[in-house]
Amino acid sequence: MISTKRVLLQASVVLALVALAGFGAMRLEFVQDWALLRVFSTTTPDADAPAEADALSASVCGSRSPIPDPARAEACVLVQAGERLFVVDVGDGSVARLRQWATPFNKIEAVMLTHLHSDHISDLADMHLATWVLQDRPAKLPVYGPVGVEQVTAGFEMAYGIDYGLRNAHHGDSLAPLSVAGFDPRPIDNDALTIIDEGDLKVSAFLVDHPPIVPAYGYRFDYKGRSLVISGDTNKSQAMIDNSRGVDVLFHEAQSNEILNIMIDASRANSADKLAQLFEDIQTYHTTPIEAAEVANEAGVKHLVFYHLAPSPRNSIIANRLLRGVKEVRPDNWTLSVDGTRVTLPVGSDKILLDEVD
Ligand SMILES: [Zn+2]
Ligand SMILES: [Zn+2]
Repeated sequence: MISTKRVLLQASVVLALVALAGFGAMRLEFVQDWALLRVFSTTTPDADAPAEADALSASVCGSRSPIPDPARAEACVLVQAGERLFVVDVGDGSVARLRQWATPFNKIEAVMLTHLHSDHISDLADMHLATWVLQDRPAKLPVYGPVGVEQVTAGFEMAYGIDYGLRNAHHGDSLAPLSVAGFDPRPIDNDALTIIDEGDLKVSAFLVDHPPIVPAYGYRFDYKGRSLVISGDTNKSQAMIDNSRGVDVLFHEAQSNEILNIMIDASRANSADKLAQLFEDIQTYHTTPIEAAEVANEAGVKHLVFYHLAPSPRNSIIANRLLRGVKEVRPDNWTLSVDGTRVTLPVGSDKILLDEVD
């Protein structure tokens, strides 16, 4: 009778040989080319992909605040209403995240900026490039935002004007047309906060409370009976409650002042008094996770997604500390986002589907 030990030994030898053969095969040029073709086939947008089911959806393309985290990009939410795509805020690293998902940049109609802090606008240059070269964009990229957005887009155009010319000279008008290079800034009028109202889609801005940054906006999307709100940066505010009433999903920023206080103690202990001062300053214009849960409850929001996390948790200890007390306020129907957290709201149902884009 063959012993179990001997069977295991033989199986290990076979597995090792298979692994060696595989490793050897990857050194063959035609195998390398075949493997690369497989990878690029799945990471290039497929123009012939079948239409998805009609839905309103939103994916977190940047879940962190300016506090660094190598696994996350700064503020960004990709919103899809049927076939129409919009991006709310484009913080550092967010366009790389969208590229990683093979996002069809030709379908992005506009960028909506909640306010003009750097962690919400710094990837505008990459967003412009991603929606311009090869994308047949019919016009300059519309960018909605607070008054001052014209200065921001003009600044990016000045900084990247040489690049536009170089790419046009190299690739020509068919791939990189200069006539649509640049931005179409659309400063929001506080007396006309509905910025899109076309057929089944309505997008509204509303004023939030992020002093001394005035104005700062949140955005609400309504599409065929489904709805979502994105807070941008704000204190706990009545405006957030009023504009989120009954929505399916609320994406709300979250900052743990309790963790910041620990960071202040650590900074002072290391004589980093200016850093401690900064951590004190930012406590005046954000919302704690518990407060965000209260907002969601008071507004009757069906599902709450925490994003723009300060700090974003790099491990379960920080996550648990960040969320301490939330369950007592709102036992369920909330999600702590990562980059890739996606909520899908199918039209004609009350389902709220959660998954992760990768
Ligand atoms: Zn911010
Ligand atoms: Zn801000």
